[in-house]
Amino acid sequence: MNVLVCGGAGYIGSNMTAMLTKNGHTPVVYDNLSKGHRSAVRDAQFVLGDLSDYDKLVETLTKHSIEAVMHFAAFIEVGESVENPISYYHNNFCNTHNLLKSMENCNVGKFVFSSTAAVYGMPDTIPITEDVTKAAINPYGESKWAVERLCHFQSQTGRLNYAALRYFNACGAGENATLGEDHRPESHLIPLIIQAAMGKREDIKIFGTDYPTEDGTCVRDYIHIQDLCKAHLLALGKLDTERELVFNLGNGTGYSVRQVIDTVKEVSGKDFKVTETDRRPGDPPVLTADAAKANTELGWHTDYPDLASIVQSAWKFHNDNPNGYGD
Ligand code: UDP
Repeated sequence: MNVLVCGGAGYIGSNMTAMLTKNGHTPVVYDNLSKGHRSAVRDAQFVLGDLSDYDKLVETLTKHSIEAVMHFAAFIEVGESVENPISYYHNNFCNTHNLLKSMENCNVGKFVFSSTAAVYGMPDTIPITEDVTKAAINPYGESKWAVERLCHFQSQTGRLNYAALRYFNACGAGENATLGEDHRPESHLIPLIIQAAMGKREDIKIFGTDYPTEDGTCVRDYIHIQDLCKAHLLALGKLDTERELVFNLGNGTGYSVRQVIDTVKEVSGKDFKVTETDRRPGDPPVLTADAAKANTELGWHTDYPDLASIVQSAWKFHNDNPNGYGD
């Protein structure tokens, strides 16, 4: 299939692009390189473009005979979204609306959308199933939920078949640990701990030690990037016949911040300073997925369910690429 990968130069998009190529698809990356890295795109055509550019989208969809679109080009930081809701709604919702409009215009009817566990807010029941009430507590989660609703209504017209995949904590490095996380500035837990282990930062800060969890730190469900991408491939394969697919993507196992730090220490063999600080606003104590629906309906099973193997791939990527992608 000819697949447009919006945000294909970013962390998840670049891994997805590589996996699409390996599986016989023809990905075309569409990215404005505001966050992504040109060198993360290998063996795929690249279009430098912005999602706000309707004419360029139409031209790209037409020129490359695109049959399906995968969309990874969103802003992803909760704190930043609280600081700047206008920009989050603009990029995450308005630009996706523009993309869906161009798809409708070009009769492209398949869409795989990166959604997030943040659509659930602070759910009462853990692990989280897909039908839990959507009650996002920040503009990031709400902007993703708004897109899901638009996709839902558009699918009702018969002009869109879509999959909304709600990620828990994507991490690790794919393609033999050659495609990893290089966010600038970095805000995600595992790469930050690795930077501390590599001596690139003075310490790792734990945001809150008084949560109602076993060791007082937040618990998250960490999912290997390659497992995540595999679910996209399976979902894409179903969109010939399925109009609406919604899945949680996680391992179902929770690890606390302290456990993640200990795992990095074990894998790296390095010791480093750990500093306990205040809570980060907007962090729910525990987020873990019930991914039974994806297991059953997609036939999706993870290859890297244990945290150590996820961290090993990230550790290798960061050591092999101490300056990230360098661009
Ligand atoms: N976290 C932390 N120190 C950091 C970065 C993150 O203690 O320097 C915590 C954060 O509060 C959350 C967990 O690690 O509980 C995962 O955070 P991350 O930003 O990686 O992902 P999120 O869960 O926000 O999507």
